[in-house]
Amino acid sequence: MKASARRAEGAAGPLRPRRARKGLSASTLVPAPSESWAYFFDIDGTLADLAPTPSEVRLEHDLHQLIRRLHRDTGGALALISGRSIEGVDSIFGPPLLPVAGQHGLERRNAKGKISHHEATSEKLAHARARLLDTVTRYSGLTLEDKGMSLALHYRAMPALASFAHRTMRGVHATMGPEYAILTGKRIIEVKPSGKDKGEAVREFMEEKPFRGRIPVFVGDDLTDEHGFAVVNSLGGHSIKVGPGRTAARWRLADVLAVRSWLESAKAEAGPDPIIPLSRRGHR
Ligand SMILES: [Mg+2]
Repeated sequence: MKASARRAEGAAGPLRPRRARKGLSASTLVPAPSESWAYFFDIDGTLADLAPTPSEVRLEHDLHQLIRRLHRDTGGALALISGRSIEGVDSIFGPPLLPVAGQHGLERRNAKGKISHHEATSEKLAHARARLLDTVTRYSGLTLEDKGMSLALHYRAMPALASFAHRTMRGVHATMGPEYAILTGKRIIEVKPSGKDKGEAVREFMEEKPFRGRIPVFVGDDLTDEHGFAVVNSLGGHSIKVGPGRTAARWRLADVLAVRSWLESAKAEAGPDPIIPLSRRGHR
């Protein structure tokens, strides 16, 4: 894929991540987590390793417990900011339900559990859905993730179909008009209503309790997370990129395992937890 095509498009416009800084992979360079901050986490590639299809992604037990603990210790100032639907996020994390921005901010459940949706026409999406369903029926290496308000074409199981997948999705998008936008990520291309992105979702959470007034932290691994990095940078917060690649983030963690170690460093400072057992500590 051309570099020019690999950019996130959304309300904040294209972002221009700066070149990856060598030697910034150690978690010890990232400030230790604080209970006084507000946390925003991407899921796939950040809290869980990527898999051939979204349904195969598994969240490690220890990381799940660390996220639950941080949510409690911050008084609820932790939200998941994902390209998945809220339903898809809940299927991974289960109850009690966490604050979530799903589908890159098209839908959001706030700290009180109230869900809001972005307004969008469904007729054009229905037409796109039919075309893409026809495509994935004919090409077994492609997976269509129907998230309700957005459609994602995955080609992780068959990377050789990358160009075809991009051509197909851009062809579909060309018939939908400017109220829809293309998003690209790691072996995924999506079409979604314009006007919302992960950065906007962070901004909306930061206007509400218990996030308001705290220093925001955004942890993500992909191009669509750059909008989140830009917003927390503008708010004087901490932006943390997981893995290699150009980014606007100020800090870097090497991989999902490094994210876990970083979260555990907060636990070490806070002392042992009498409530949540980390029975599988040390296991992947
Ligand atoms: Mg991700």
